[in-house]
Amino acid sequence: MARELIDCHCHLSANEFTQDIDDVLLRAKKTGVKALVAVTEGASEFEKVIQLSKIYPGFVFPCFGIHPLQGSGKDLHSVKVQDLEPFLPLFQKHRDNIVAIGEIGLDFTPWNVHSRSAAKATIATMKELGIGQALLHNFAGKPSVAMEGVQAGFSFSFPPAVSKNEQRAKLIRQIPLEHICLETDSPALGLDDHVRNEPGNITISCEYIAKVKRISPGVVMEVTTQNALRLFPRLKT
Ligand SMILES: [Zn+2]
Repeated sequence: MARELIDCHCHLSANEFTQDIDDVLLRAKKTGVKALVAVTEGASEFEKVIQLSKIYPGFVFPCFGIHPLQGSGKDLHSVKVQDLEPFLPLFQKHRDNIVAIGEIGLDFTPWNVHSRSAAKATIATMKELGIGQALLHNFAGKPSVAMEGVQAGFSFSFPPAVSKNEQRAKLIRQIPLEHICLETDSPALGLDDHVRNEPGNITISCEYIAKVKRISPGVVMEVTTQNALRLFPRLKT
């Protein structure tokens, strides 16, 4: 069986990769990664992911998003419609090139509301909006909330860091494999907080999910890849 993995959420336009992106992507390819969804946190990264997708056609796929939290330090604030408006023409301009919209969502962290509240509110809002297809990345809510998402047809992806967290094992055990995708969230969320994560580490997520679900990594690889292709049909091109 061919090794075919899809990294559904990684930040290839992050500064951490500026120096050696070619080597990083080569290592990913050697690991068996066949496609990567390159997400953004802000409009300043849009051109960079488009460029990467042109240098690596059929391998790097751009995904535009504005992170729910913008700014840093004292300027940290929740994203508003006004933050998005100036960049809508860019979404329009590249609408045929992007495979999805992300990363987006709700983040209540600065107000110290428990993340479970955000998970529940996120899923409730998505259902209200009638969203049919979505990938909730690095989901950390309750299994019962996740199951509401599964009922609504949503999928969930998990980065290597989840293998350090017993709570997530419960969650992964409950979510049917047909609703799970793989991600690395590189350069963050690797096994070691102090070491840069990269897409080649996707096998850690794959093997962990296999261990938790007591199935073979090959099955996890095959099913999650099918799930990703269903969720992002443009990856097939
Ligand atoms: Zn991310």
